[in-house]
Amino acid sequence: AKKVVLGPLVAAVDQGTSSTRFLVFNQKHHHQVEIKQEFPREGWVEQDLKEILQSIYECIEKTCDKLGQLNIDISNIKDIGVRNQRETTVVWDKLTGEPLYNALVWLYLRTQSTVENLSKRILGNNNFVKSKTGFPLSTYFSAVKLPWLLDNVREVQKAVEENTALLGTIDSWLIWSFDRRSQWMCPLYGCNNSSEIYGLMKAGALEGVPISGCLGDQSAALVGQMCFQDRQAKNMYGTGCFLLCNTGHKCVFPEHGLLTTVAYKLAGAIICWLRDNLGIIKSSEEIEKLAKEVGTSYGCYFVPAFSGLYAPYWEPSARGIICGLTQFTNKCHITFAALEAVCFQTREILDEMNRSCGIPLSHLQVDGGMTSNKILMQLQADILYIPVVKPSMPETTAFGAAMAAGAAEGVGIWSLEPEDLSAVTMERFEPQINAEESEIRYSTWKKAVMKSIGWVT
Ligand code: ADP
Repeated sequence: AKKVVLGPLVAAVDQGTSSTRFLVFNQKHHHQVEIKQEFPREGWVEQDLKEILQSIYECIEKTCDKLGQLNIDISNIKDIGVRNQRETTVVWDKLTGEPLYNALVWLYLRTQSTVENLSKRILGNNNFVKSKTGFPLSTYFSAVKLPWLLDNVREVQKAVEENTALLGTIDSWLIWSFDRRSQWMCPLYGCNNSSEIYGLMKAGALEGVPISGCLGDQSAALVGQMCFQDRQAKNMYGTGCFLLCNTGHKCVFPEHGLLTTVAYKLAGAIICWLRDNLGIIKSSEEIEKLAKEVGTSYGCYFVPAFSGLYAPYWEPSARGIICGLTQFTNKCHITFAALEAVCFQTREILDEMNRSCGIPLSHLQVDGGMTSNKILMQLQADILYIPVVKPSMPETTAFGAAMAAGAAEGVGIWSLEPEDLSAVTMERFEPQINAEESEIRYSTWKKAVMKSIGWVT
């Protein structure tokens, strides 16, 4: 068959908390594989690193097969960008390439005692770390996961003593595994940003293709949504809910529990909890149908503080609650309350962001798996009381990573100019309730949040 001739293509490995995807731009072809999360104990969340790596090779093979069936020559794929789940922490052996422990997933509480010990060492002055880094001391960050691994995993201690341990985040593990030379390629190329050649694929259908973009999921989405201007903000609704605002050239130090880089809450994790723990829904998509049946939570509020409250509270003593129940409450109201919780949490962060930056946002750009849920998007506009704007091309994280890959020096397929996205159509959700009702619902939510604090000491 005749090969379809195309210009150079850029691909992205999109390694998220709940799934791995491989996408080729501007082709609409991709493959996705779900990733299991393991919960060995309460508050512990882990993932199998080999499963993650395998899932990527599988996605690459399947996508290339699809392109092959369309007679698209995969040698047109000139670079690969990697987008990853950021604070998830990994340790492996540089001689054998074997992981020394499962990946410690970002959303977990196991490092609480490490945080407490560090906190004692800096005399409880949480602001010490924050003033230096923009972050409060929290279980969330990789920096506190590393001491936990060193203190608790014998294989890690041994490898560190023998100088064979490599510690990093998922992106470093992936790029190292793809190339196996990255530890010397990076100094060789002088890699110090997100858009440079880090190495080459050593195996699989794309052997020899440079890996030239590497961004954390949220930063990738910020690029993918072209939030390059001061005061442009976007919210991602994936496993977590992350709201980012470009503060221009100023580094704003917020006072209200936000991070200078990002802020997050749980989002998709609530949906998975309803599906996997309660069995109320069979698939994430089904929640929309149930919520639509009632169109209200009927006074029920769901605070999903499964492993404490994060921004803007940073309150590890909190645990999840469902309150305001009556004999009338049914599973549809609870699913509605779960969706509303995601929206209230976004409002909390947006309010703090507005306060820190001084000028309220005029609209919010959104992306992530949950944005396919139209009820959620409408609720979000109602609760924020500003329009919510969603690009019809939902793969903004992968697109951001691909853009970084294509813009790397020596590759030069794309410049980081907005024209690639200018053709993307937007879906807009306007507030449909009155402002007073929006405020009442939000203040009742705040009462529910207060009740979730102090469950564990
Ligand atoms: P991540 O990058 O963290 O892996 P994604 O952006 O891929 O996350 O989004 C996946 C999350 O979105 C899952 O937690 C899933 O439950 C949720 N989700 C997907 N579709 C829907 C839907 N229609 N309604 C609500 N939640 C959804």
